[in-house]
Amino acid sequence: MSEPITLRDLAGIPVERLKGVGPKKQSSLNQVGIDNVLDLVTTYPRRWVDRSNEARIADLVPGEEALVLVTVRSVTKRTTRNRRTMVNVNVGDGSGRMDLVFFNQPWRERQLKEGLQIALFGKADTYRGGLQMSNPVVDLIGDRTGRIVPIYPQSEKAQINTWEMAGWIEESLRRCAERGIADPIAEDLRRELKLIDRADALRKIHLPEEITEKELARRRLAFDELLRVQMVLVLRKRAMERDQKGIAHAVSGALVDRFYEALPYELTGAQSRAIAEIEVDLAAPHPMHRLLQGDVGAGKTVVAVAAMLAAVEGSHQAALMAPTEVLAEQHAASVRVMLEGVTVPDPGNLFGDRPLRIELLTNKVTGAQRKEVLAGIADGSVDIAIGTHALIQDKVDFSSLGVVVVDEQHRFGVEQRAALRDKTVGGRMPDTLVMTATPIPRTAAMTVYGDLDVSVLDELPPGRTPIVTMWANGPLMETGVWNDIKEEVAAGRQAYVVCPLVGESEKLEVASAEETIQRLAFDELKGLRLELLHGQLPPDEKEAAMERFRSGEADVLVATTVIEVGVDVPNATVMAILDADRFGIAQLHQLRGRVGRGEHASTCWLVTQPNEDDPEAGNPRIEALVATTDGFELAEVDLDLRGEGTLMSTAQKGRSDLKLASLRRDRKLVELARDAAFSIVDADPDLSSNPVLADELDVVFSDRDEEFLSRG
Ligand code: ADP
Ligand code: MG
Repeated sequence: MSEPITLRDLAGIPVERLKGVGPKKQSSLNQVGIDNVLDLVTTYPRRWVDRSNEARIADLVPGEEALVLVTVRSVTKRTTRNRRTMVNVNVGDGSGRMDLVFFNQPWRERQLKEGLQIALFGKADTYRGGLQMSNPVVDLIGDRTGRIVPIYPQSEKAQINTWEMAGWIEESLRRCAERGIADPIAEDLRRELKLIDRADALRKIHLPEEITEKELARRRLAFDELLRVQMVLVLRKRAMERDQKGIAHAVSGALVDRFYEALPYELTGAQSRAIAEIEVDLAAPHPMHRLLQGDVGAGKTVVAVAAMLAAVEGSHQAALMAPTEVLAEQHAASVRVMLEGVTVPDPGNLFGDRPLRIELLTNKVTGAQRKEVLAGIADGSVDIAIGTHALIQDKVDFSSLGVVVVDEQHRFGVEQRAALRDKTVGGRMPDTLVMTATPIPRTAAMTVYGDLDVSVLDELPPGRTPIVTMWANGPLMETGVWNDIKEEVAAGRQAYVVCPLVGESEKLEVASAEETIQRLAFDELKGLRLELLHGQLPPDEKEAAMERFRSGEADVLVATTVIEVGVDVPNATVMAILDADRFGIAQLHQLRGRVGRGEHASTCWLVTQPNEDDPEAGNPRIEALVATTDGFELAEVDLDLRGEGTLMSTAQKGRSDLKLASLRRDRKLVELARDAAFSIVDADPDLSSNPVLADELDVVFSDRDEEFLSRG
């Protein structure tokens, strides 16, 4: 056996084979998810301490954060008058001494023994003439030698410390040295992308000799993580293109041309670009799988209609599926207006053509009418079917479904999308366009939406009145909110009040909405015509409430988040979102999109209760919404604030997680990885000349991961 060692080999060596890992340490390691040598060497340091370059005690500047390496000199513990424990530690280095004080960490007395080397990270302050750090971050260095010391995540509970980790990893790498570590990336690609080789990278991230080496190492290993994800996606995408037969649509023709001519406005640049991208897909003989991403109001409907008309032009049918009945009805209404007077060629007809037929299919369409719609869908006389998930039931049998548009708003069930797509015509799959208003940063979209291509509408149609967003923090400012609503109503406008989110339960939410409307009717908005809307109302009452608001019979719609999708009242110019800090950025942004739809200037108030401990405290999410209405910018902020988390099947943490790569920081690397994946797969579709890489994908991804990734 002298082949270089692969990830599969490493995964096959249990940790107990290492020196110093007995049953006790083995169970500790297993407890933190480290079972084998692969798990071990991909547990990366969270920091590195450069002994020659850290501040010495004498160099510390009071008030500034710094890292120092010191030796423990003495430790004492006492209990303060208010029964808190306080551990005082005196430490020193060649340059001086200082005191550490730990509150409420009695175990520090046991942890910090005289003579121990530790790295401290914290802010030193002057105290009684000397320097003191309180509650610094402490890393035990042990007796590690070497100039640069890696600091591993330590587990107090599992009783594993950083120098043990370092020792086992060093041993693992040393034992790999003879056979060498296999590299899945060919040398010329490595050179082109300026990536160091894998063995080198593993050594340099764990045992750098120069602090700069770890950066090169991180770049290479992060690239590997991203490449693996992109490989799964690209392989899947190419396989679909190869195996799935689609319809090569005619993308220009009288029908489509007349539609563009009749539009009452010019397409935005972004709309034209998206339509061009879609046309390329439609004309191709394999099915389209494309995501159309655009903020609320960006004008996705026109783009969707253009795609659907291409199907109709070639005597196929199109379907548009919406997540709710209300939304389906709205789509049907607006598509009908847009396509009014459009005719389709009909050789069986005396005049040579007939009116385009659009039908709505939801669970509300029943009896004879439903029968008629179903018959029309089956015999091909319905050109465009618009509906809810009712469209994907078995009884719905399309004569020749050519284009499917799925309006996800947020995220649809993936299975539903697939079910509609699977209504194939003689083995030919319809082209699918998924529309979403959820802004996803481009790099994340590449990953989250898996095998979908992405078109972005990053430009709003002209003439929109921008929404001003304001933060009303506390009762005083809240009064201003209600006054604003009263003034707008007096001027003939309308308003939304969004009720607080209450836990997970819909019942509680309804109760809160009912309570809010009572309070407002009695007090703050006395005299205005208020209307209540929430998800537990029967459909006809929901519709009636919405209709009263739409028609202007009601001044204020007091609602739960059900208004997030589907309510479109251009005369509404104010929105107050109560307890706004309970909502996420994306949701607040969606909600806000309900105003600013008409010619009048609009305001969105984010109402919160001040933080009791710190009334002046900021709120980064609220502040981001105040600062910008750009959904993509907000999505980036959101990604920042939430951190990365797990990317794959969220329930399980595992090998496929991004440990080093960050979708946010490594945007450039994501793109490089995506390009590399395409060039590898296109040159070697079954990876027969890249066995190491192919094997590695198998080792790293569980079946569930692959499923998750490729179905988006
Ligand atoms: P989305 O579905 O992306 O939220 P819509 O398709 O509902 O947006 O469009 C929002 C509004 O903008 C509609 O009233 C539509 O008529 C209008 N609109 C769309 N495109 C344009 C354009 N290029 N110029 C002017 N108005 C447009
Ligand atoms: Mg829309």
